[in-house]
Amino acid sequence: MLYDCHLHTGFSGDSTALPEAQIEKAVSLGMNHICITDHHDHDVVSDVSFELDIGGYFTAMEQLKKRYKNKISISVGIELGLQVHLADYLTKLTEFYPFDFVIGSVHFIDGLDPYYPEYFKGKTEEQAYRRYFEAVLENITAMSCYDSLGHLDYIVRYGENKNKEFSFDRYKDCITPILERLIRDGKALECNSGGYRNGLGAPNPCEDIMREYYRLGGRLITVGSDAHSPEYVGDNFDNVRGILVKCGFTEYAVYEGRKPRQIGL
Ligand SMILES: [Zn+2]
Ligand SMILES: [Zn+2]
Repeated sequence: MLYDCHLHTGFSGDSTALPEAQIEKAVSLGMNHICITDHHDHDVVSDVSFELDIGGYFTAMEQLKKRYKNKISISVGIELGLQVHLADYLTKLTEFYPFDFVIGSVHFIDGLDPYYPEYFKGKTEEQAYRRYFEAVLENITAMSCYDSLGHLDYIVRYGENKNKEFSFDRYKDCITPILERLIRDGKALECNSGGYRNGLGAPNPCEDIMREYYRLGGRLITVGSDAHSPEYVGDNFDNVRGILVKCGFTEYAVYEGRKPRQIGL
């Protein structure tokens, strides 16, 4: 079983999962390492707060690490919501706290959450998708305080046609610069199996994007289910492994103390 390095607990505004439940599910699946990565989306307009109580989070995680140390090793990560105007704030935050792993994700574009239709208003689906990829590039150009880029083509979960009219080929002029930037900056690309339960029949990003990252020289792939509840821990990891191998990868990365450790697939 691949180690799950994108997991949420009740410390995230959109999860009510007990950390123990997430950990015990991972143990039951035979994982001997995981990374918990609760949300911190600062300065966003949303019905729920995505501000992480970082002090309380570390205290709880340290206790859990001790409690489960004979069963599973637990890394303490975070999923940071990237926004260009927060570059200094996010950089300082990751320098201050001793995270093992930082996922950088773009959840809000021009202040809007694509989960809601307002983001798509007045845009064709293609314009909405392109604006998302532009925003990803703007963010990873503005800051490098993350280790792995979360769910690169996340936007296709929310378009009217989801990924039916989406392909790497159609959007490669705006996706390739993202991949090149990641590789140049030594950053990982995340393979997020959440796409399967969001109706895509595929992970985020899609296979062709991961193949291109590999072809361009990228070798740092992180794997996560993005589970907000125990039933999705390790979700579709057999499929994910098959896709990664097909793309050429022989290893995937887990992070400890912000440093990658490669593990055979
Ligand atoms: Zn996310
Ligand atoms: Zn997540």
